[in-house]
Amino acid sequence: MTKMANDHGAINLSQGFPDFEIDPKLISLVHEAMMKGQNQYATMLGVAPLRQILAQVIQKTYSHNVSWETDITVTSGATEGIFACISAFISPGDEVILFDPAYDSYDPAIRLNGGVPIQINLTFPGFSIDWDLVKKKITNRTKMIMVNTPHNPTGSVLKRSDLEELERIALQHNLIVLSDEVYERLMYDEQSHQSVLTLPGLASQSLAIFSFGKTFHATGWKMGYVVAPEYLSREVRKTHQFIVYSVNTPIQYAVSEYLKDSANYTRLGKFYQEKRDFFLEQMKGSSFRPLKTEGSYFQVFSYKHLSDKPDIEMAEEMTKNHKVACIPVSVFYKDRTDNRLLRFCFAKKRETLEKAAAILKKI
Ligand code: PMP
Repeated sequence: MTKMANDHGAINLSQGFPDFEIDPKLISLVHEAMMKGQNQYATMLGVAPLRQILAQVIQKTYSHNVSWETDITVTSGATEGIFACISAFISPGDEVILFDPAYDSYDPAIRLNGGVPIQINLTFPGFSIDWDLVKKKITNRTKMIMVNTPHNPTGSVLKRSDLEELERIALQHNLIVLSDEVYERLMYDEQSHQSVLTLPGLASQSLAIFSFGKTFHATGWKMGYVVAPEYLSREVRKTHQFIVYSVNTPIQYAVSEYLKDSANYTRLGKFYQEKRDFFLEQMKGSSFRPLKTEGSYFQVFSYKHLSDKPDIEMAEEMTKNHKVACIPVSVFYKDRTDNRLLRFCFAKKRETLEKAAAILKKI
C-alpha cells in the first residue's frame, strides 16, 4: 500500500510509521556515540549499559525483577526477536496458536521453522479472545501461544482477566507464551498495559517482545529486545547468534542514555491519545464508523454503510481515486475474513490527519 500511495501521490495512512521527526536529543546521542568510537560489533546479547537500564525500566514499569545478564536480549527489531524465539522453540510439526487478524510476520515465521500455525479469529467487533475456543484447539502438539497487546491492526488490548486465563492455560498445558508488546507505551483512556511480565506464573513461561522503533518514533532503526527467564533466553540467544549475531552499536549506547529520563517513554500515551482524538474529531460527520482503539497507533473504520465492495478493492480505490491510503483488514486474516474494515495509522502530523480526514469526509 505504501508503494501504491507513492505511485498515486496519496496521503499514506497505511503502513505503521510516524511522518514526524524523532527527538533531536536522541539523534545527538547517536552522534556522540559514533564520535566516541562506539562503531564496532556489539556483544551478541546487547551492550551492558542498555540491558542494565532496561532491567530497571522493566522493574519500574511492571514491578518484575529480571536479570540484565541472563533475561534480556537485544534484537534487530521486534521482527527478528519474534523470529529468533520461534526458531528456538518450534520444531517440525509443533502447533502454534495465534489470533487473527495478526501482524504479518507471525505465520511465515512459524511455517519457515516447520511449525503448524493454528489460527483462531478474534471476536467481532470487540476483537477479544474467545478462551473457550482456545481450550478446544489445544492438542498434544501445541507448543506455543502467541498474543499481541496493544493489537495491530485493531487497537484492542488484553485485559487483566485475559492474562489470568492465559496464565492458567499456559501452566496447565506447559505452553510457551510469545507476547508481542511493541505498543506497550501506546495505551489510552487511563488504562494500563497488561504485560505478561506482571503475572509471575505467566512470566515464568513467556517471551515478551518490545521495540524501540515504536517507542521512539524510529521504525527505521529496527531495534528491539526479548525479555524471558534465563532457561528460555538461553535458547533464544542460540538462534539470535546465527540470525544477526549482534545489533547496531552506537544506537544501543544512545538509547541506554536516553532511557535514563523516564519522561522519554512515559509521555507517549498522552502524545498518541491526542492524535487519536484529533483524528476522530476530524472524522466526525464522515460515513466511516470508527471502532474502539484502546492502544497502538491504528484506528479501524467500518465502511459498510457506504459500500459493499470487498475491503481490498475499497482500499485500492481510495488510494488511487481519493488519494488516501489505508490497509484492508482482511489481509491480516488467514481465511481473509472481510468485515468491510480499513485500518488507518494516526502516527502522523496534525496537518496530515486533517488533510486525510477532509478527503475521507467527502466519500
Ligand atoms: N509486532 C507488531 C504487532 C508490529 O506492528 C510491528 C511493526 N509494524 C512489529 C512487531 C515489528 O517491529 P520492528 O519494526 O521493531 O521489527
